[in-house]
Amino acid sequence: MRQILTICILYCLSLSAHAQELTILYTNDIHGHFEPLKTAWISDTRLVGGMANLATMVRNEKKNNKHTLYLDAGDYFTGPYMSTLTEGAAIIDIMNTMQIDATTIGNHEFDHGWENMLIQLKKAKFPILNGNIFYKGTEKLLWSNPYMILERNGIRIGIIGLHGKFAFYDTTADVMIQGVEAKDEEFYLKKYVAELKDKTDVIVLLAHQGIPGRQSSTGSEDVARNLQKDIDLASKIEGLDIIITGHAHQGTPEPLLSNGVIIVSTNAYSKELGKLTLTYDKNKDKITTYTNSLNIVYDDAYTDHPKTEKKINKWKKHVSKISDQVLCTIPTPLTRSYGEESYLGNMVCDAMLKGQPELDFVISNSGGLRQDVDAGEVTIGRLISAFPFTNSLEIIDMKGADIRSLFEHGAGLTNGILQVSKGVEMKYDDSKPMKSRVTMLNIKGVPLDDEKIYKFGTSNFLADGGDGFVFKNAISKKNTGIQVIQLMIDYMKSFEVYTPIMEGRVVNVNK
Ligand code: FE
Repeated sequence: MRQILTICILYCLSLSAHAQELTILYTNDIHGHFEPLKTAWISDTRLVGGMANLATMVRNEKKNNKHTLYLDAGDYFTGPYMSTLTEGAAIIDIMNTMQIDATTIGNHEFDHGWENMLIQLKKAKFPILNGNIFYKGTEKLLWSNPYMILERNGIRIGIIGLHGKFAFYDTTADVMIQGVEAKDEEFYLKKYVAELKDKTDVIVLLAHQGIPGRQSSTGSEDVARNLQKDIDLASKIEGLDIIITGHAHQGTPEPLLSNGVIIVSTNAYSKELGKLTLTYDKNKDKITTYTNSLNIVYDDAYTDHPKTEKKINKWKKHVSKISDQVLCTIPTPLTRSYGEESYLGNMVCDAMLKGQPELDFVISNSGGLRQDVDAGEVTIGRLISAFPFTNSLEIIDMKGADIRSLFEHGAGLTNGILQVSKGVEMKYDDSKPMKSRVTMLNIKGVPLDDEKIYKFGTSNFLADGGDGFVFKNAISKKNTGIQVIQLMIDYMKSFEVYTPIMEGRVVNVNK
């Protein structure tokens, strides 16, 4: 009997010696959301998010289990006003207190130009990884740190950072990436996996790729559609174990599996901390079990970590002279939509039109609207949080037929519908095939004339081909140099009380 018991214990010991646990905490697309906010799709009453809450959660997890890593998949810049007003400096300073083990570079890290990005990222006290963005026409990496190896619980973990080439050109402003280029992520992933294979047990990719997150007030749930690029990439790679992905702003309550690769992501804006716990079997050299959860960062459930909170307060004070200026009040919030007109979209386009009243109309991308403006006082800070980009107003002359194509691209909904100024009426049917969805398009009450040349305004981001909108047939393009955010500030200042407008400018008739 004793002999049987001894054998059993030895067997159990040998099993546990081979199987080791590892916990990976993860985030993506934090977008400088330093403070908790109301988030309609999570809770009507409780505030959610904030970097000081996240910092506490990460520390708690690491304290309870030392075999824990915290990884992030990029897009920490651009969101609430603080990132824009400090060109990202505040965000890196805050992130330095968050015990991040590694992150990568997202498209929004380029929002103030790649030169600024290098200046800010060099201040990071945590590793940042990217292996496929190069100085244009060279083999020299812009950020010379493609991957790293960490060890936890005897498991050697290779971590690679890559930016999807499509996403890079789809969503970075042209002027911000002059002189740099993104190269094929699949090629470089294969190369780095081959280099890491013999030196590591588990390989994790921090990816920033695919289609951009839907900017709306209601969230999105089509997980597989939104992470299709990750599914496809994983299907072509051998030796990769995990992808933590960003850009789609799409949480994975259940991880996706593609070619044995576990794909996870969180919903954006510091609202969730992902937790992937896995068992790695050394004998089999593979992950044998895993569990995953997306943990909502409820403000009332965590205490701000004092180190992070101190940094946030320091930077808030630093920018408060600008951010706290009150412009007017609004009785109801300015909300966003990705598939139809929105209160915020209408206001932004009307503000641009007011700045250049000789224009026929103004269009703006839904993807540029990043945060609702709550009812009450409209401050400069809140406006920047809603539109945190340094875009300027560009004036375009273009034929009606080419303008129709712009609206068709919007109606495809890959990058979101075009938001429009007063004077535009557009109806579309999203059950129809792509590129033939627009069923009505009126300018100033008259159907768009395909042959007529119109003069309209938009941001330089769009005019340069951002979010997949094509302006190459424009007859003329002129950048006014006037900041869109300045036009928004001037417009809001002209009201004591601004009443948000919704008047059927953009309608999905299939809804
Ligand atoms: Fe993002």
